Amino acid sequence: MQPQRTSYNRFVVAPYPYNAYHAGMPKQSFSHVTTWVFDLDNTLYPPECRLFDQIEVKMTEYVMNTLGVDRPKADQLRHDYWARYGTTLTGLMREHDVDPAPYLIDVHDISLDHLEADGLLAHHIKELPGRRIVYTNGTAPYAERVLAARGLDGLFDAIYGVEHANFLPKPERAAFETIFEKDGVDTKTAAMFEDDARNLQAPHDMGMRTVHVAPEALDHDHIHFHTDDLPTFLSKLS
Ligand SMILES: [Mg+2]
Repeated sequence: MQPQRTSYNRFVVAPYPYNAYHAGMPKQSFSHVTTWVFDLDNTLYPPECRLFDQIEVKMTEYVMNTLGVDRPKADQLRHDYWARYGTTLTGLMREHDVDPAPYLIDVHDISLDHLEADGLLAHHIKELPGRRIVYTNGTAPYAERVLAARGLDGLFDAIYGVEHANFLPKPERAAFETIFEKDGVDTKTAAMFEDDARNLQAPHDMGMRTVHVAPEALDHDHIHFHTDDLPTFLSKLS
């Protein structure tokens, strides 16, 4: 029996919505987990850091320069490709044969000066039993810069970017399969933490425990848990 979810859930003290009850309380629901997979952007730092504001400006300029279109058209293409393919890059590659490597270097060349180290998050990630990995639709070198700025460097056993999945992005299931095969992840004993709900569908279908890390909870069957406070959520797991 599933309790009916209402907007009430947003205001209760519990940091997760009714799906938490559906899946059991956090600790028991994660007792089988030996591999912890984290998205990077807006998951291992709060969305208020707004790194995508900088990345999107770079993307738009790259689209303008590469395709020879004006700013409004480039903005529209950037958004359309993100919605249709999961990332702007995939649209540029499929529809315009854009070379991914220079694009990825350019759009991730952003300032991280305002990011702050998060000692509490570092502590709780370190406490997680088993293998810990980062899997981002950005690049691994970019992820390393962000992790360093957040004081999370040295905590992960592996860092994977879109370049490790032949530039196929999440939410494509084949992208997850490529990364998990590379790492030797057994999805039946793994958990995925993500801010983009689309990117939890394949992990769910592959048998993973799924955690939506975002300010607002969404009601989807493929989301087992929601939290708007990752350090506190992790503190309940170990
Ligand atoms: Mg993200």
